Amino acid sequence: MTALWLGTKALIELKAEARRMFPLETGGVLVGYVGLNGEPVVQHVIGPGERAQHKRERFEPDHDWQCLQLDQMYRDSSGQFVYLGDWHTHPNGNPQMSWLDKRTLRGIARHRESGTSQPLMLIGAGAGEDWMWRAHRYRGTRLKGLAARFDSLEIRSFEG
Ligand SMILES: [Zn+2]
Repeated sequence: MTALWLGTKALIELKAEARRMFPLETGGVLVGYVGLNGEPVVQHVIGPGERAQHKRERFEPDHDWQCLQLDQMYRDSSGQFVYLGDWHTHPNGNPQMSWLDKRTLRGIARHRESGTSQPLMLIGAGAGEDWMWRAHRYRGTRLKGLAARFDSLEIRSFEG
């Protein structure tokens, strides 16, 4: 199974934000690069932004703020760190993608500005100290009529 590499610091930030907004949903953006072996490496996570709207079963990020953060990380890394996908929580739920998540991920893949045809969606489910994270990746097809595919990636952590 393809791995998604997640930095330990990024994981701590994910958990902290998940707990901060519980029982409401929260989320943000995954930033990093895709290795030569095709495995995504998440170096940073961006949060929801102050103007995000949080509800129990969905949330709307502060997109403008997130774009500024992403631009900053891109510049600071001399263009190495780019948008990889989104992350969000399912408070008291499970880490599977909802139909809306699938639609969102497909939309990102088809949106040229995202810069990736295989965007990731990392979902954290749980409560309190106990969160389970699952990584999904869109693998579409250019052929019409064939259903989009969503792969599961094995999450591995690295020091960073
Ligand atoms: Zn969801």
